Order: sequence, then structure tokens, then C-alpha cells
Amino acid sequence: MSNLKSLACAAIDKESSNLRTLSLDIWEHPELCFEEHHAHEVLTNFLESKGFLVSATLVIGVMCEYDALPGIGHACGHNLIAILGLSVALGIKEVLDKGNVKGKVTVLGCPAEEGGGGKIDLINVGAYKDLDIAMMAHPSQFNLPKPVYVAMSQVKVKYQGKASHASSFPWNGVNALDAAVLCYQSVSCMRQQLKPTWRVHGVITNGGDKPNIIPETAELLYYARAPSGEELQDIQRRLGGCFQGAATATGCTVTYAFDPKGYDSLMSNNKMAAMYVENGESLGIVYEHDQNKLSKQGGSTDMGNVSRVLPSIHPKFSLNTEVSLHTTEFRDIAKTESAHVTTLLHAKALAMVAIDVYLNPSLVQVIKEEFQQQLTAETQ
Ligand SMILES: [Zn+2]
Ligand SMILES: [Zn+2]
Repeated sequence: MSNLKSLACAAIDKESSNLRTLSLDIWEHPELCFEEHHAHEVLTNFLESKGFLVSATLVIGVMCEYDALPGIGHACGHNLIAILGLSVALGIKEVLDKGNVKGKVTVLGCPAEEGGGGKIDLINVGAYKDLDIAMMAHPSQFNLPKPVYVAMSQVKVKYQGKASHASSFPWNGVNALDAAVLCYQSVSCMRQQLKPTWRVHGVITNGGDKPNIIPETAELLYYARAPSGEELQDIQRRLGGCFQGAATATGCTVTYAFDPKGYDSLMSNNKMAAMYVENGESLGIVYEHDQNKLSKQGGSTDMGNVSRVLPSIHPKFSLNTEVSLHTTEFRDIAKTESAHVTTLLHAKALAMVAIDVYLNPSLVQVIKEEFQQQLTAETQ
């Protein structure tokens, strides 16, 4: 390993126990979409305490996520993503400070990844404008340099009926819960006609207040996912029919709107991913070779939107478990010392990619050219 890379790795190791404290602090205070005040506070305090105020030419963006899930806390391990971002930045900063290397690192706090599209808001306010490339990594079951993340669109569906006493005058009511149930059933029936790569999943978020009141309103929230935006539109059209049909059947009115902040599929930069693998392997990381796992469809991320603005990578890294994300089991793994150690290892691999880029600006050209080619190929 080159001296500069050892410098970055040593800088990360030096802060391991502080990073572990931060990770546990975030784990102990799970905050949801756009409410990540505590996480934001502790992360920025840490960066300030480490003197982050660098400036120069080539800008590498490191994404931190730190939101939790309702009811089950940090079951997506975003406490680890938060400190992975800090670790990458620590490693890079050490090299920029002491290694006579020119460059800049920007740590971007990205709230509300779980459905809130925080990065899309950041794109819209120009937060990615000055960055050259973007990187982050997500804990998972496998080491995947270019995981499959599909496009996603969410939709709120609201049925409006009419309340009435459910025993005395039920015939005067219009039952919005019945509409919601029919809607749910229709979507479930339709699922057989969806392609294997398509996903539709929903919950009833409001199903009335009391059994003796005919529910006047009912609401559902659905996520629809597909590998491409075009396919996603096809699903949206089919869903519209289900939503409308349930309204007609029950005499309710329905309103629904697909979220304009849809998540794009992830477009990984091949060059950056290859550099990540090369550096990771030098640290002893073993990457997945099983084709089924490499092509396995995961969830969706607003990093997909970033990946269409900037050359990006969003690898998944294994916490040495087969346990699924979004479970209490995975939440408990995200708190372990072993998950912490794994996180720092992958942070080092990303920091090393950054060092390669700073030292060899022609690489940025290669990365950006590939990015343009991928964008062009998509629109053809
Ligand atoms: Zn998640
Ligand atoms: Zn996540």
C-alpha cells in the first residue's frame, strides 16, 4: 500500500472509538425522515472538531445518511453510513493536510433517505453543483460494488366517503374503508400480471376511527418499483385503474398523486466501482462473484438521482449476515462492534479511491466520460 493510503487508513483507525461512540449515539436516538436533528448535530460537531474547512480544485462528495425507520429504529444501519462518511472524509483530510495532495472533500448530510428523498431536495437547491464525483456505501448482506437499485415512485391514495352511525343508519353512509380494502385487493390481484422485476407494496395508513362510525375517509400509501422509469409509468397506469375501480364500486371519491420526487435507479460508475474493488481487495475485502447475488434486485435509493447528476458509486458491504435489512435482527447487528470494524474497512477502500483520483486527475476525465456515455445510452 502506498504511504498516502496508509496515512488515510491510520487516520481512520485513530478515530475508531470516537466513531463508534457516534454510531452508537445515532443508533440510540433513531430519528425519522427529515427529523434527524440529533444526528445532524453530532455529525457536524464532530467534523468541526476535526477542522473540516478545506478548499482546492477537485471536489469529492461523500454522502452521509442517518435516518431511522418508524417502530424499528436503525434497521437499515444508517448509523453506520453516517460514520462511514465521516471516516472517508477523515482519511481524505489527513492526506490533503499532510500528503501535499491538492483536492477538496465535501461531506454532504443527506436526511430522509427512507422515502423522503432528501438528496433530491439537495440536488434541487444545487448542493451537488460543485462536486466532481459522489460516493457512499450501505451495509448489507453481500459485498456488491455495483448493487441493483431500482426506480421507485410513491403514491398516497385517499378515499372520501360519508360518515353515518354504523348500526342505526348504515345505509346513509358511504364506506371509505371498504374502498381502501377493495383497492388493496385489486392491486394484490393485479400483481400476477406484473413482471418479476416490478414491485408494488402498500399499507393502509388510515382505516377509520371507530367501528360504530362508517369510515368517512381512508388512505393508503403505495411504493411502486421497476428497473426503468418507463416501466414505472406502466405500473402507475395500472395502479390508477385499481384506485379508480374501488371508488366506483363503493360510491366514494378518490384522489391520488404520485410523488414528483421519484427515486431513479442507481447508475453506478464502472470506473469508480473498479477502483473501489481494486483498493478494497488490497485491504483484504472479498467481493461477491455469485451472479445471482450480483444481479439481485434490492430496494431503491435517492442516490439513484445523484447518480444521474454526478458520477457516483453506492456499493453495498456485507455485515457478515444473511439477515434482511428493515428487520429488528439487522438493527441489532448494526449496533455491534463487528459491524463497526467492517464499516471502517469499507470507508478505507473509498478513501483510497479518492486518493487515486486526486493523484491522477486524468482518471476524473475517464470517469466523467463514462458517465456521459451512460446517460446518452439511457436516452436512446
Ligand atoms: Zn432502508
Ligand atoms: Zn438504507
